[in-house]
Amino acid sequence: MKIAFLTLGCKLNFAESSALGKELVARGHTRVRPGEQADVCIVNTCSVTDTADHKDRQAIHRIRRQYPDAFLIVTGCYAQLRPGDIAAIDGVDCVLGMNEKFGIPALVDRLEKRAAGEGTMTCVGRIRDITDYYGSWSKDDRTRCFLKVQDGCDYFCTYCTIPYARGRSRNTTVQATVAEARKALEAGAKELVLTGVNIGDFGKSTGETFLALLQAIDALDGEFRVRISSCEPNLLSDEIIDFVARSRHFAPHFHIPLQSGSNEVLRIMKRRYTRELFAERVEHIRSLMPDAFIGVDCMVGVRGETEACFDDYVRFIEALPVSQLHVFTYSERAGTRMLELDLPVVPQAERKRRSEVLHRISQQKTEAFYAAHKGRQAVVLWEAKREGSALDGYTMSGFTANYIRLSRPYDKSLVNTFQTVTI
Ligand code: SF4
Repeated sequence: MKIAFLTLGCKLNFAESSALGKELVARGHTRVRPGEQADVCIVNTCSVTDTADHKDRQAIHRIRRQYPDAFLIVTGCYAQLRPGDIAAIDGVDCVLGMNEKFGIPALVDRLEKRAAGEGTMTCVGRIRDITDYYGSWSKDDRTRCFLKVQDGCDYFCTYCTIPYARGRSRNTTVQATVAEARKALEAGAKELVLTGVNIGDFGKSTGETFLALLQAIDALDGEFRVRISSCEPNLLSDEIIDFVARSRHFAPHFHIPLQSGSNEVLRIMKRRYTRELFAERVEHIRSLMPDAFIGVDCMVGVRGETEACFDDYVRFIEALPVSQLHVFTYSERAGTRMLELDLPVVPQAERKRRSEVLHRISQQKTEAFYAAHKGRQAVVLWEAKREGSALDGYTMSGFTANYIRLSRPYDKSLVNTFQTVTI
């Protein structure tokens, strides 16, 4: 059968869609090509905010219009949390939650067998006894692979639906994950991005540690680098930072969720650290890797974030030597504990203003980070994607180890190679 994928949200979703795609191809199905009609469409949704839900619905309508006769399966976090809402969308044939997601290849096999005249099959979470694909890897181009090393979360921050959508924290063994990493490298990948929901929790279900996983991956031979997609500050221990600093393959690139720079708001959110601990982590990284790229997730507008809390947050973040902020605006999510708290609600217009304030700070920090590196030598890994047009000339781009994006005129011979350049 010809399969069309539409994936939204985080790197983990992309890694899982790619793993599903690989499994479907292994079973004899094919990915739909431009201009062809698909037999089955799979929309892998995200539900991190209201905006994500809205984009999911738009994507479902769009793919239904594009492939009017295909069997349409919707899965992912939104499908897990609001299956009824999705089932009510005209044209959706099947809604599968997180536990059922990895049963899609078997479902597509069944659809193929039933294709001759049995009409549309509708199911909501019917597939059972399916196990996750841990360590599954995804290749978004010839260069970079997202390697899923962990799933789920036990933290239950008061604003977040992810533990309800993805379940408890779990992983496979270091050995199995390293075997997947080796496979990805043998297939030509030059950069691995370790992904998960709460990646620093790796090992909880196998009695191992995240550090042990990093050490085992770093022991692999070859010319490649590794990025850690995001790690909770309380789990990004000094030991891990020390290890990254002296490792062979790990890039000086950190992505750390702060969420608020006000201790009062961090308590409301039920985050497991104070801003002082966060600042210590950042200082420790800077002391060992002064050129590291440090990206920080920041949320604005949660319940109880008073004007004074926000001012405190802004002062903290302005003083923090980080490279970029990823700003999220809080939206009320059904089923979360924050809705039960009797706290002042930040009006929508004020949430927007606060988001703009942090976006401006982020821009200043990123510009300063780039400016500080101008004229220096760095190693860039060139990617396969060709941009531009024949008229203006094609370009290619790549990232330095510390995540500075560079571009140059397209040269096919440089794709998937490391090159020392002047920034
Ligand atoms: S750590 Fe908190 S914000 Fe992150 S997935 Fe878990 S509950 Fe959600």
